[in-house]
Amino acid sequence: MKPTHIEHIGIAVKDLKAAISYYENILGLTCYAIEEVTDQRVKTAFFRVGETKIELLEATSEDSPIAKFIDKKGEGIHHIAFAMPDVNEALTNAKENGIQLIDEKPRKGAENLQIGFLHPKSTFGVLTEFCGKNK
Ligand code: ZN
Repeated sequence: MKPTHIEHIGIAVKDLKAAISYYENILGLTCYAIEEVTDQRVKTAFFRVGETKIELLEATSEDSPIAKFIDKKGEGIHHIAFAMPDVNEALTNAKENGIQLIDEKPRKGAENLQIGFLHPKSTFGVLTEFCGKNK
């Protein structure tokens, strides 16, 4: 199984409002959704660039994975999400091939998509997300 496209690029930011303004005013994109994902303790903002989206991520609490990421590495690219025809199968396949998973099973992410993360230790330093429609 291979990805159909890059679904989105996740970018960790300290100030969602300021970042939205940059993407709208300098890049000319339109923020079409702002969504809070409570179990991840993040607020997200989405922009479309062709088939791919930019997902800005702002921590809503200090123990948010995004807050920890910014503490360690600063603002910047947090993860890359590949659109997969079947997230469950893609995760199983990665695991069978010795890749360390963060999510053994798909869970619900923003925009009601099925998501699952691979550990950056197994993916050459890039936190990798598989992303797809509910099956
Ligand atoms: Zn994502």
